[in-house]
Parts: sequence; structure tokens; C-alpha cells
Amino acid sequence: MVLEREFDVAIIGAGGAGMMCAIHAAGRGRKVILLDHSVKIGRKILISGGGRCNFTNTGAKPESFVSQNPHFCKSALSRYSPEDFISLVRKHRIDFHEKKLGQLFCNDSAEQIVDMLVDECDEAGARFQMDCKIFAVEKKDSFIISTSAGDFRSESLVVATGGLSIPQIGATGFGYDLARQFGLKITETAPALDGFNFSRADLEQFKDLPGVSIDTIINCNKASFRENILFTHTGLSGPASLQASLYWHKGEALQIDLLPQFDVETWLTRIRTSHNNKSELKNILGEKLPKRFAEKFVQLVNMNRPINQLNEKQIGDLAQQLHNWSIHPAGTVGYRKAEVTRGGVDTNELSSKTMEAKKVAGLYFVGEVVDVTGQLGGYNFQWAWASGFAAGQTC
Ligand SMILES: Cc1cc2nc3c(=O)[nH]c(=O)nc-3n(C[C@H](O)[C@H](O)[C@H](O)COP(=O)(O)OP(=O)(O)OC[C@H]3O[C@@H](n4cnc5c(N)ncnc54)[C@H](O)[C@@H]3O)c2cc1C
Repeated sequence: MVLEREFDVAIIGAGGAGMMCAIHAAGRGRKVILLDHSVKIGRKILISGGGRCNFTNTGAKPESFVSQNPHFCKSALSRYSPEDFISLVRKHRIDFHEKKLGQLFCNDSAEQIVDMLVDECDEAGARFQMDCKIFAVEKKDSFIISTSAGDFRSESLVVATGGLSIPQIGATGFGYDLARQFGLKITETAPALDGFNFSRADLEQFKDLPGVSIDTIINCNKASFRENILFTHTGLSGPASLQASLYWHKGEALQIDLLPQFDVETWLTRIRTSHNNKSELKNILGEKLPKRFAEKFVQLVNMNRPINQLNEKQIGDLAQQLHNWSIHPAGTVGYRKAEVTRGGVDTNELSSKTMEAKKVAGLYFVGEVVDVTGQLGGYNFQWAWASGFAAGQTC
């Protein structure tokens, strides 16, 4: 007989990955409990996508994810596709739209996604125990989870506690600690999708630029993104900077093309040679770049003068610098602003098909706690759904 506090599956973390796992495990007839220390269900979903939840990306592919093993995510992603999640969203009559680049957002509110997942959990028979602090986990014949709501016993344990980003809404390193407790390795974790802080010198240099936004191609560690950078009071934000922060490591430079797909050299040469043009370079660049930035840039490259005072070589150098502006951030912004945590439970420790730990039967890790991190644009939720689904088939 299965007692009140005995479950087939206990899932720690009632976020996207945990709920998706619960829906499919309970749908197979497993008795499932979701345990979460938060009072509210799915808080990260609620704040995601500016309150509208960018719930998937129609172009999600393994190359959109960073992991020590780039092949690990392939199996789960192929078995639960963006189309599968879109069908669920349609079934619940949630209206959505593509904002750009395959990114799908709710028309109304992220709350609809949380309600949808909770309804699906309820329908499948999964239970929630919120406001539940986890004190300890041990494994004997089954897992025993000691909590502020009493002890729970389960045959399988799924860890879906997410990463370290946004500790102010309850993110913890619980999943990593539990993995270590069971002898599993963790790949180095770092805040990601958070943008950059300037060095002290650059902070002084760019202090007049907050609010300036530029369409760029940003390159970092072989990854390349065509999106806007935005100067802030502390560094660089905007979608291009957030994307680059996923690939950046301390000490590295960002290469920024400030005038992508534009032949600056030919353009400037033509202006210079037309009627011995005496226009100030900053005003000419100000036609293609935000004026405040153009002014700063000519100072930086020491070319604050009329264009007819530049020779051919200087124009070539200037074009090169505009297409290849190099900047060394002091760091990324940090966990308080980061959308995700890069790194996590080492994928070598897990089955890519089921998410079960190879060394510990019945122990699963899903979602952001695993060393699989997506780019900005709905990829991280797609990983949460796909990895939760994968574990839900067998846990
Ligand atoms: C501001 C912001 C906006 C974002 N927008 C998007 C977006 O639009 N699209 C996208 O794809 N991704 C977005 N992300 C990333 C996305 O939210 C996460 O990758 C995703 O929520 C991870 O799902 P998860 O279920 O693995 O973890 P989480 O959603 O973080 O869920 C983990 C759960 O575990 C619980 N928990 C943690 N520690 C403990 C503990 N010690 N004991 C008990 N419970 C615990 C937490 O309370 C939480 O409910 C955004 C992230 C942020 C911070």
C-alpha cells in the first residue's frame, strides 16, 4: 500500500522543468509530488519575457545551446519540439505572437503559461507542496526527503531547482549541492545573459553614453549576433550584449562591428574626395551612428578633425576600427540580473535520453540546473520543457 507521504516520484522545484516532468510522469500513472520552497508556483515564468513569457523559439536547435558536451541536448530536444509546446499552448487557447527571430510570446500574460502547466498537473493528478523547505535528502531503498512539511518518501527523485540567477525570487544552489552529495560533478557556473560591466577606465570614457543604442554584430568566442547593444550607467546591455555574455569568459575581448554590412571605407573616401570636404568627421559618422557615440568614437581613435585632413590610410584604419571595435569588459553584470546560469550538473553524469544520473538509480536532473544553457529568445524554456518531458517518460 502506498502511504500518504509515499510517492513514486518527488520533484524538487515547481518551475517549468519540474511541472513538465510532473505532467508526463503523472500522465503515466505515477504518483507525483512537487516540492518547492516558494509560496508561489512558477515565479520565473511569471517574470519572464517582460511578463509575457517568451515560451519557445521556433528555430530551437542544439547549436543554440552552450554546454561542455554540445551533443547532450540533442536527444531531449528532438523528442519534445517547439511544435509540441505550441500545441499545448493552442489547446489552452492562449494567444501568442512571434516578436522576432522565431521568439514566441503570450499576447496577454506569462500567468497564462503558469495556469496552463498547473491545470495540466492537476488533470494528470500531480500534487503540489509549496512553501516547503528541504532540510535533507538521503537514499536508502528509496529517497527520503526531510522538509518543513514533514518527510516524503519516493522511488524516484527529480531535481528541478534551476540555477543561481535572481536569488531575490528564491534561486538557490540546492541542485548543485545535492548533485555533489551524490558524487556527481558540476561544471563551473557563471551568470549569463546578463550583459557586461565596464572597467573603471571605460566607465569614465563612456559616462555620457547611457541610453545610446546601436545596431551591431557582436562577436565573442566564435559566436556572432546581429542585434542592438545598449550603453547603460555601468556597461553594455541590449540583446547583443546579453547573447555575448553567454559565451564570454573573464579577460576576453568583445569584437563589435558598429556598422554591419556597410562599406564604410568607400563611403568615407567618397565624402572626403568630394569638393575637398571640410565637414567634421564626428558629424559625418553621426549620419550613420548615434551622434553622442560618433563624437565619443572620433575622440577614442584620435580623429576629431575635418575629414579632408585624413589620408587614405587613416580612412582605411578608421573603417577597420568601426568594423572591429574591441572592448574588454571587467565582468558580466551578475546573478541579480542574469537570465540564466551557465554550467551546472555535468552532462557526463547523466543519460541524455532520460536525464537520470548514471551513478545513482532513480535520481534525475532537469532544466537549468543541468549544464545546458540556451541563448536569449525562448531557448531556455524549450530546454526546460524538453528535459522535463524526457525525465517524465521514465522517472
Ligand atoms: C528575468 C528573467 C526572464 C527570463 N525570460 C525568459 C524567456 O522569456 N524565455 C526563456 O526561454 N527563458 C527565460 N528566462 C530563463 C528561464 O526562466 C529559466 O531558464 C527557466 O525558468 C528554468 O526553468 P527551471 O524549471 O529549470 O528552473 P526555475 O524556473 O528556476 O524553477 C526552479 C524552482 O525550484 C525552486 N527551488 C529552488 N531552490 C529550491 C530549494 N532549495 N528548495 C525548494 N525549491 C527550490 C524555485 O522556487 C523554483 O520554483 C528568464 C529568466 C529570468 C531570470
